[in-house]
Amino acid sequence: MSERTLVLVKPDGVERGLVGEVISRIERKGLKLVALEMRQVDQQLAEQHYAEHDGKPFFGSLLEFIMSGPVVAAVVEGPKAVAAFRQLAGGTDPVEKAEAGSLRGDYGLEVQYNLVHGSDSAESAERELKLWFPDLSA
Ligand code: GDP
Ligand code: MG
Repeated sequence: MSERTLVLVKPDGVERGLVGEVISRIERKGLKLVALEMRQVDQQLAEQHYAEHDGKPFFGSLLEFIMSGPVVAAVVEGPKAVAAFRQLAGGTDPVEKAEAGSLRGDYGLEVQYNLVHGSDSAESAERELKLWFPDLSA
């Protein structure tokens, strides 16, 4: 059974030239790219995407960050795609949580600037894919 997940290369990852590295690891893992697009995130999309974090102390700074430059958004498919990409990404904090060998563990230092986003569950993936790729049929 195949599933889909939303992957973002955040503005720091795009700025640092790590798009190819992220895509490469997705492909080497055996996951499939279904859609791929460079996007500038506006306030509305930022707020909806990160709605679960509304009210947290870092919410404002997180919105500013995700709107600070282009992101690359991808729909990624495969068996257990949600968990598989979270494994490639590593834990949220690149030093405290992500293991070396993961994207965040290999390339990140600070919790906000952690390079990539991946949906955290099948339910989140469904919500986020509707938000980012409304025209894509499931
Ligand atoms: P994720 O699912 O691993 O991306 O982590 P969360 O959903 O918990 O957080 C969303 C994003 O907010 C993270 O990827 C970070 O970019 C950022 N973030 C999380 N925790 C913190 C924090 O304590 N401080 C700051 N400044 N940003 C954070
Ligand atoms: Mg999350």
